[in-house]
Amino acid sequence: MNRFLIFLIFSAFFFWSGCAPEQKEAQFADLILHNGNFYTLDSLQPRVEAVAIRDGRILLVGSAEEAMGLRGDSTELIDLQGQFAMPGFIEGHGHFSGLGYSLIRLNFLEAQSWDEIVQMVTEAAEKAEPGTWILGRGWHQEKWTEPLERSVLGYPYHYDLSEVSPDNPVMLRHASGHSLFANEKAMELAGVTVETPSPSGGEIVRDSRGQAIGVFEERAMNLITNAYDEYAAGLSEEAKAKEWYQAIELAEEECLRNGITSFQDAGSKFFELSRYEEMAEKGELDLRLWAMVRHSYDRMKDSLDGYPKIDVGNHYFTCRAIKSEVDGALGAFGAWLLRAYNDKKGFTGQNTTPIPEVKNIAQLAMDHGMQMCVHAIGDRANRVVLNIYEEQFNANSDKGDLRWRIEHAQHLDTADIPRFRKLGVIASMQGIHCTSDAPFVEKRLGEQRSRLGAYPWRSLLDNGVIIANGTDAPVEDVDPLACFYASVTRKRADSGFEFFPEQRMTREEAIYSYTLGNAYAGFEDHFKGSLHTGKVADIVVLSHDLLNCTDEEILEAQVLKTIVDGKVKYEL
Ligand SMILES: [Zn+2]
Repeated sequence: MNRFLIFLIFSAFFFWSGCAPEQKEAQFADLILHNGNFYTLDSLQPRVEAVAIRDGRILLVGSAEEAMGLRGDSTELIDLQGQFAMPGFIEGHGHFSGLGYSLIRLNFLEAQSWDEIVQMVTEAAEKAEPGTWILGRGWHQEKWTEPLERSVLGYPYHYDLSEVSPDNPVMLRHASGHSLFANEKAMELAGVTVETPSPSGGEIVRDSRGQAIGVFEERAMNLITNAYDEYAAGLSEEAKAKEWYQAIELAEEECLRNGITSFQDAGSKFFELSRYEEMAEKGELDLRLWAMVRHSYDRMKDSLDGYPKIDVGNHYFTCRAIKSEVDGALGAFGAWLLRAYNDKKGFTGQNTTPIPEVKNIAQLAMDHGMQMCVHAIGDRANRVVLNIYEEQFNANSDKGDLRWRIEHAQHLDTADIPRFRKLGVIASMQGIHCTSDAPFVEKRLGEQRSRLGAYPWRSLLDNGVIIANGTDAPVEDVDPLACFYASVTRKRADSGFEFFPEQRMTREEAIYSYTLGNAYAGFEDHFKGSLHTGKVADIVVLSHDLLNCTDEEILEAQVLKTIVDGKVKYEL
């Protein structure tokens, strides 16, 4: 029977039954948020005072009077006392389990010096059983305020770390995720000696005598991570799973505390995707996940049956995208550039995944009706990815709206900026990366490349390109408000250092990028990203009006309530 026929029969039945009382009851709201200052992202009624919710969906957006008309005996009322509310933040590119693990492990995002990091490792080593690995992440040599006694390319030597942790291997990931620091014990287990060559696509950083100083860039990180994986493989499956679920719980709490109601995960393995799917089906996820699958082409090519997975467990889990990557990060000289770095003569960065592999993965995405999301930071990386996409689109012109994305899209040649719009490619960028990297971008790229092509939001937006926004957590704190501040000011919150402010977003554009823009970038704008009748009731309540407060007040703003699917999941 077709749907229209079913509709006709049901309509006739209800008409005949004369609008039974239980049918009226069904129109009442579960929850009415009133006396609010809502910014809806709906151009027809951008500002309203009330939202009525039923079964996790928005029943009505409008005046208090209209909303109260939906009040029944069991309707809960929340008086927002004039507070600002808007669609919940959607994190547009982060690493969900990575965020969780970062909350378990040592976190150096706030570390101001190498000594501080050595101190934290000293304390961890005192508590650790001999032989267990000490893990941490988030260090960044450009953020340290105290000069190093001895250094190579701005990095310290491993000696301090090796001294305070002689029996425990130490592996500390760089904030960018594109290099790591190892102590002597870790290098010994990895079999790294003076003779060990740097693998292709990576570098073992050495001093003038050829000694490895402890830093491993890009693909060279595998030497150390393989040694860790060998150790981890010896742990019981139970112990590993327990830690994973603990990490996920911590990530969920951290997101809700930050007003995040949906999270776009930039690359998970099949076993993680299965766990998320199961959690969604059981109603165990506290926020909505949208994930990219990330494996090698060989691992994926025969394993994508059943993908994409869309709207599992009442719209709590979706995996409809594939992640790949072509280069590294600017801080670690991994961004792949058209012309050499200003501060590493003759060097143009790293191509981290062979292009034929990326092309194969793009073909896989096209064949399975999935979005392709490629990490590209340098201008050459971005051009290469746009070329791969263009080739695919030309060969599949019948497929229409594909919404393929470039993750980061940080440094662009001006000639490539209009191509994003022309090809319908989404620039999935991170506002906060701009101000984090600001102190060293010009050093790496020089004035002109920085001014015209580094985080060129204004140029992209003026060209009609959709920008998705996020933090790349745990590379950065998952805080959307700090990212919003960076997006609308391009100013560092600590020093006030401003990075080419002419490229900043307006307040409206930045909110869009964090809500409807991200929803669009995941094919989810039809049911989330704005406050509109029928859409999911995912809402954040804030202490300040993000459209009208001063720049400084953005930094003071607090998340007061996070509502997912019509339920208050976090309250300050
Ligand atoms: Zn990432």
